[in-house]
Amino acid sequence: MLYLKVIIIIFLYIGIDDTDSPDGMCTTYLASQIINKFEENGIVLKDYPRLIRLNPFARFKTRGNGAVSLKILNDDNANLARQIVLDEVEKLSMFDCDNTNPGVIFYEGEITKEMQDYAFKAIYEFIEINEAETYAKSFGCEIHKFKKGRGIIGSLAAIALPLSDYTFELLVYRDSKNFGTKRKINYESVYEMDKKTFPETFENIDYGEGYIAIEPKTPCPVLYGIRSNSFEILNDAKSIVKVEEPIKDWCIFKTNQHTDMHIQNADKISDMKQFGCYCIQGEVKNEPKIIDGGHMFFYIFDDSGEIECGAYEPTKNFRDIVSHLRPGDIIKVYGGIGEKNTFNIEKFQVIKLNDIKYENPICKCGKRMTSAGKNKGFKCKKCGNKIKSSEKVPVKIERSLKNSKFYETPVSARRHLSKPICRMNLD
Ligand code: ATP
Repeated sequence: MLYLKVIIIIFLYIGIDDTDSPDGMCTTYLASQIINKFEENGIVLKDYPRLIRLNPFARFKTRGNGAVSLKILNDDNANLARQIVLDEVEKLSMFDCDNTNPGVIFYEGEITKEMQDYAFKAIYEFIEINEAETYAKSFGCEIHKFKKGRGIIGSLAAIALPLSDYTFELLVYRDSKNFGTKRKINYESVYEMDKKTFPETFENIDYGEGYIAIEPKTPCPVLYGIRSNSFEILNDAKSIVKVEEPIKDWCIFKTNQHTDMHIQNADKISDMKQFGCYCIQGEVKNEPKIIDGGHMFFYIFDDSGEIECGAYEPTKNFRDIVSHLRPGDIIKVYGGIGEKNTFNIEKFQVIKLNDIKYENPICKCGKRMTSAGKNKGFKCKKCGNKIKSSEKVPVKIERSLKNSKFYETPVSARRHLSKPICRMNLD
């Protein structure tokens, strides 16, 4: 008799979120400490650790609404792994902060379509804690809530989100005795790293603002972070960047950052909802205008309606680019509809420039004619010539913007999820 031994490899997925506060900590750092403990105990990750960015408009986010997930074998070590995760969350979370409400999810098995749908919902919509809990129970997850346990919303999504497009981020961590002090990074070496590794690494420096983007501006444990298309380039990049303080640890995450995963294609303006992120085509209605505070606004419209678009003060030079738009231009804007129902532009593509303007005709003597009165045609002030037609004539104008071209906000004002132009043609 023939016996077939069927070995079913079942994985244990671990999701962690909401452990940090504006005063310190970072869920990725906590994950890196867990990974170290796993290694000490012979527990091996079955995929890269993942850093998943969720709805950019989520109300309780600390910074970039990121959650972390890990994948290991569901073998004899699984219970030890569970204990390590819960102990580290207990030990390192910023429990004193009202808004820090950690949540951990454990899930054994394969990720289902329903779980993936939940993950996209966590990118596009708002989810309540009890709603996430109901979903997690229906998927058969083990749920651990600390305080209010809001972190389970993101933890479950971090486990379940499929990554058809992804990038990597190397996160280098400081010694805890230096947390909160000025980071000692050799900026020249960052310029050198960017020169040698861009565009395989990106978002390193905002050249317009002279801003070193790899350096966080918060008191978190991260010394610097480098984003890339491939895992391999990050070792080169790390070897080029010089620092004058001890490196405690580092970890490379696979992530949905810079994939435009938050952007949904909208067919018409009236389909878009507040706090959603979209790509929408429309015609520019009016000349962009800057208001007090330095924000720039204009409208686009289509057959279904119109929406105000904003390039806000922090987008700096991007406003100069936006100011070159003129009525009649057809553009595709990418971004999100915020608090005031204004479309906050992350980037735009010119679909068709309106390069025609209408002017009074030129007289046969060479002088531009002036109106002779309503519906009375034109007259020439120089030679007295008159023409009866009141039709202005089309004149082609030079535009500084280019058809088909993308224009984006500077690195310093860019969302974690926004796909930079240097990644736009990778598809
Ligand atoms: P950091 O980027 O420093 O890790 P953060 O910005 O990720 O911080 P968190 O401390 O993780 O902020 O808090 C975000 C909270 O929002 C978490 O509790 C997470 O579960 C929750 N959350 C995530 N997505 C949604 C959503 N779609 N709807 C409602 N809440 C969400």
